[in-house]
Amino acid sequence: MKTSLLYGILADANSKTRVRCVFCGVYIPKASKCIEQHTNGTKHKENIELMATNGISFNNDVLYCKPCKHTLTEDESVSKHIDGDDHANWMTAIEDLVDGEFISLEPYLSGEKDEVYCEVCNTTIDCALLNIEEHVNSFNHRANVCDKLKPLNGIFPVENNDEVWCKVCDIYLENTVKGILEHIDDDEQHVDWFSEMEDLIEDHEISIEDYLTNEHENNAFCNTCQIEIICNAQSIEDHINSDSHLSHFS
Ligand SMILES: [Zn+2]
Ligand SMILES: [Zn+2]
Ligand SMILES: [Zn+2]
Ligand SMILES: [Zn+2]
Ligand SMILES: [Zn+2]
Repeated sequence: MKTSLLYGILADANSKTRVRCVFCGVYIPKASKCIEQHTNGTKHKENIELMATNGISFNNDVLYCKPCKHTLTEDESVSKHIDGDDHANWMTAIEDLVDGEFISLEPYLSGEKDEVYCEVCNTTIDCALLNIEEHVNSFNHRANVCDKLKPLNGIFPVENNDEVWCKVCDIYLENTVKGILEHIDDDEQHVDWFSEMEDLIEDHEISIEDYLTNEHENNAFCNTCQIEIICNAQSIEDHINSDSHLSHFS
């Protein structure tokens, strides 16, 4: 983003002695030193950064919030608008909707595109809550999410196409989008295995990706020690607490 000294600093129609910072919604004495001090300030920089993650653009001297379809008023700073109920509620709603759905809001919020992007369907979606909700619940999207999640969850096809095998739980599941997604999201044993594993390997550079994506791989890999460890909670915990592993951290 271009941030020249005068970016966002507008002349004040009612006064020859002050200028206005659009992003911060404040007036500043019209002296290079004051302007420079303001534009170098933390608050000012924060407001500019917030624009790019909140769908707020600055064009033709006007600050516009795309999600709220709202032109910011003169005394409304970027952060004040973002903290307001309308904007905050929209952000919460949309983040809830796309959570875990492989939908990227970034192109929309940065102002680069008018749509959001669904990575698993390789398609753009008009950024309205209803549209996104519809997309997220569509069969095609659910099926694509399912295909994406299978290798991350240790789920493999079996010879009879009616079932799939969950390596983590060592059980067979009905080979349907609904059956597989329910297992991944709601099966207690499955979910617990992942949360225990993630707690263990977090901060330890231990990878379980090969174990999950390769049917015949029995090991996790410690990138710190460059060795393989049997991929279960007990042996990973033993490894993490072993002298050889700990010595890499001293
Ligand atoms: Zn400012
Ligand atoms: Zn807004
Ligand atoms: Zn999709
Ligand atoms: Zn499972
Ligand atoms: Zn290690």
